[in-house]
Amino acid sequence: MLVILESGASEAVLEQVVKRIEQMGLRAHVSRGQFRTIIGAIGPENPAFPEQLLSLTGVENVIPIMKPYKLASREFHSEDSQVKVGHVPIGKGHYALIAGPCAVECRESCRAIAQTVKVHGANMLRGGAFKPRTSPYSFQGLGEEGLKILRDCGDEFGLPVVTEVTDPRHVEMVSRYADMLQVGARNMQNFVLLSEIGKVGKPVLLKRGPSCTVNDWLMSAEYILSEGNQQIVLCERGSKGFEPEVRFTLDVGAIVVAKHNSHLPVIVDPSHAAGRRELVTSLALAGLAAGADGFIVEVHLCPEKAQCDGPQALTDTMFAHLMAQTKEIIAAVGK
Ligand code: PEP
Ligand code: MN
Repeated sequence: MLVILESGASEAVLEQVVKRIEQMGLRAHVSRGQFRTIIGAIGPENPAFPEQLLSLTGVENVIPIMKPYKLASREFHSEDSQVKVGHVPIGKGHYALIAGPCAVECRESCRAIAQTVKVHGANMLRGGAFKPRTSPYSFQGLGEEGLKILRDCGDEFGLPVVTEVTDPRHVEMVSRYADMLQVGARNMQNFVLLSEIGKVGKPVLLKRGPSCTVNDWLMSAEYILSEGNQQIVLCERGSKGFEPEVRFTLDVGAIVVAKHNSHLPVIVDPSHAAGRRELVTSLALAGLAAGADGFIVEVHLCPEKAQCDGPQALTDTMFAHLMAQTKEIIAAVGK
């Protein structure tokens, strides 16, 4: 339920309403707008609750939220949200332009990639230290050593860093190095991981699972939000399709639906969708044109030697071209 307070309601009124909501066994999430304070009362509801809340002093209205996700919904928060990662705002007209290697491979290559993407205008650095691979025999990432390298490269070039956390037991450790925690597509419904991530105060990049609906995706966001972490950016990275020419099918419509149904920023990952570098730029631009709040792309200076995802990594020149095109698209469709 949404509990809407009368305009100008005092802090004492707010406290009383929150107390009553908690007595009902519900969690209260307070959202202070410019004119109104709205409280999301989340949890198992009883049909008598709306009337009981309506009878409290200072309560103007009580409205049910129809969507299965509550805190992630536009009904709860009608304005777009903005997430700040280090000094980089994402959403509400600000774009995440994230680039870097699929995996952190060694200090020299990570540093060279960070320097290149910075020069061309990226505002964040990506790089995996824990790599979820289809085969147990493939490169699994450098672990904590990779996190240290990524952190140092981000610091040197003034780029906040995002990296994947795959295990609930690593959340605390990865949080010590990263500015943003990535939930990979394969872990989107790892609910234990989502709850752990919800307990730390770090921004989260939540990828959409390759066989998950937008509804499933927003329910996963709800797991994180309901633990108290509001800093979520959604990421569309392609679904399982039937077209063998691409690795996954980028679902541009899902970007539009997610932004319509939710207030959370949404970015696009064209690299994992395409699987081939020659398709990445067009898909990135399509995502931005559809309203995405940025992109995350893989870049490698020597893709033929990459430990993973070399075929989809943009080269230095291709990334420069993408950034030039991005400026034009943002100028055309940006807010
Ligand atoms: C990644 O971004 O490194 C990655 C593994 O992506 P996804 O989880 O979307 O496959
Ligand atoms: Mn990759």
